Amino acid sequence: MSKQPLDRILQSQGFGTRKACRRMIEDGEVSIGSETVSDQRAVFETSGLEFTLFDERWAYREHVYIALHKPASYECSRKPSHHPGVLSLLPEQFTWRDVQPVGRLDHDTTGLLLMSDDGAFIHAQSSPKRHIPKVYVATAHDPVTPALVDLLLAGVQLHDEPAPLAAVTCRQIAAHQLEIVLEQGKYHQVKRMLAAAGNHCTALHRAAIGALTLEALNLDAGAWCYLDQAQLDLL
Ligand code: URA
Repeated sequence: MSKQPLDRILQSQGFGTRKACRRMIEDGEVSIGSETVSDQRAVFETSGLEFTLFDERWAYREHVYIALHKPASYECSRKPSHHPGVLSLLPEQFTWRDVQPVGRLDHDTTGLLLMSDDGAFIHAQSSPKRHIPKVYVATAHDPVTPALVDLLLAGVQLHDEPAPLAAVTCRQIAAHQLEIVLEQGKYHQVKRMLAAAGNHCTALHRAAIGALTLEALNLDAGAWCYLDQAQLDLL
C-alpha cells in the first residue's frame, strides 16, 4: 500500500515528465471515478487505483509484465541499429517506464518475448540458475534426420563454450522442422547448435517459455498483452 500525489503517480506510469503530467492534470485530462481531478498534488492510494487519461482508462501498475509476439525484422536491443526495436511495438509509456526485453531474440527470430520494467524479475528470469525451459521451433535447411535429433540431444561443441551444449528435449515435427527445448540462453544458441550438428537454421520461432505458451496467449505477430500472476507462475 502506498499513497502518492497524482502527478507522481502519472509519471510513474510512464505518461511523461513530472511537468508534463502536471499539465495534463491542470488541463482537466485526468479523472478518477466520475470526478475530474485538477489538483496536481491530490494524494491517492495507488493499489487498485483506476484513472482516465485522455478518455482512456488505466489501472495503476507498480510494474508491468508483458508478453509480446515478436515479429521478424525487429531488434531486441535498446539501441537498435538495422531494424526497429521491439519497444516501438508497445505504447510510448512503456519506453518512459524503462520496459526492457527479458533476454533477447535475434532480429529474424519470431515468437514469445517477455518484457518488463521490474529489474528483479528480469534478473531472475535471465539467471542461468533458474533452468527455465524455452521451446523453439526451428526450420532446417536440410531434412531433419534421427541422427540430427540424437546429436542435439547428446550435445554439440560450440567453439567458445567449455563443454558441449545439449537440448533438454528435441523431436522432429516436420520434414524440415524440429522442436528443440533449451535451458540455457547462449548467443545464437539454436542456430549455432544446428550448424554444429551439420545443418542450417533458416527460421526460428520461440513457442513457449516455461509452461507459458504463445498459443495460449493467442497473440498475432506484433501484438502484446499484460501477464497476470497466474501466467507469471507458469514461467
Ligand atoms: N537461439 C538462436 O539462435 N536465436 C534466438 O533468437 C534464440 C535462440
